[in-house]
Amino acid sequence: MINPKPDAAAVAEAEQLALELEPLQAEDILHWAAERFGEQFCLTCSWQRQSSVLVHMLSELGLRIDVIELDTELFFRETYETRARLVERYDLNVVRPGIISVAEQHLQEGPNLWERDPDRCCHIRKVEPLLRALEPYAAWASGLRRGQSPSRAGLSKIQWSERYGVWRVHPLADWDEKHVQAYIAVNEIPYNPLHDIGYRSIGCIPCTRPTRPDEEERAGRWAGSDKLECGIHLDDSKTERDK
Ligand code: SF4
Repeated sequence: MINPKPDAAAVAEAEQLALELEPLQAEDILHWAAERFGEQFCLTCSWQRQSSVLVHMLSELGLRIDVIELDTELFFRETYETRARLVERYDLNVVRPGIISVAEQHLQEGPNLWERDPDRCCHIRKVEPLLRALEPYAAWASGLRRGQSPSRAGLSKIQWSERYGVWRVHPLADWDEKHVQAYIAVNEIPYNPLHDIGYRSIGCIPCTRPTRPDEEERAGRWAGSDKLECGIHLDDSKTERDK
């Protein structure tokens, strides 16, 4: 393993690596990251279609890496059922950061925080747990794709995150929805059945609705507001670990 968490050096290296990795296939990128970062390479799963693709791909490659699950305790029943099927089939080593219960959040912040202040709700239930969960790791893979929303259009296959102090790896950055669907069908991989009834992007129950084919893929998340991201994929220049 080389230089797993180089920080300042990483910023300078990121641009060059992004160019080098851009032509590579998703499998090659996973292989490259596993070689470079070893046991300090992890995957986050939200149990949407991209999670299905990546856990299958890693299994096919014989790469066993930790899977960080950010369970907000507000997922759909179908999401939990999909999680159970994938964990069993691929014998996943799931890491779950601690999180306050929804009841505790109601007591501390008032009821239905997601209606009044979704950014704060996402910070409590997603961002802060992820910051803690990533502490032991040097690189983090996720299923982000450029076509999911305008906020992800400029995604690189690898980038340095000042905020989290890790490399971020996006093996599916150049895949579209059809590619993901086809890969799942051909390989007969378990996937979240909500995708079959119009949920093109799936998060927490209070903040997710089905998305029409003529809408952007993530239009059903926080619909009616200008919020596009839960916050975990926003790279602030300030490192939250330093706060
Ligand atoms: S997606 Fe909604 S319910 Fe889930 S953490 Fe964010 S604001 Fe809260």
